[in-house]
Amino acid sequence: MITAIDHLGIAVKSLDEAVPLYENALGLKCLGREEVASQKVRTAFFDAGGVHLELLEPTSPESPIAKFLTDRGEGIHHIAFRSDNIEGQLKQAADAGVRLIHEKPFDGAAGKLVAFLHPKSTRGVLTEFCMPKPGATAAH
Ligand code: ZN
Repeated sequence: MITAIDHLGIAVKSLDEAVPLYENALGLKCLGREEVASQKVRTAFFDAGGVHLELLEPTSPESPIAKFLTDRGEGIHHIAFRSDNIEGQLKQAADAGVRLIHEKPFDGAAGKLVAFLHPKSTRGVLTEFCMPKPGATAAH
């Protein structure tokens, strides 16, 4: 079951430029940064009243974020729904005919299991499911 919008992913060229903008223009505090090697990104998290913002900077030209920036420029990259059962959530989406990018959840940022649905199957919105790993303390 989906329990919340967990975060919005925002593709940026540079965390060092984007983080101060979010801090100064919106008055939000950066909760921390983390590199996610599996996705070839560096992330910075903000808390906007319970929904987090996840700024994403590519660490390699092969990063999915690098491709997104080339094709579409900076902007909203994905919406992430928190689920209490990520495997069941993926099965429900697949059973409804949605194409999965990841058949199995993998380790994402902030100690969460994550998996993505293909945006061509979800009306153009790259959709992430995420779930805190059992036993993990929610850092973000
Ligand atoms: Zn995300």
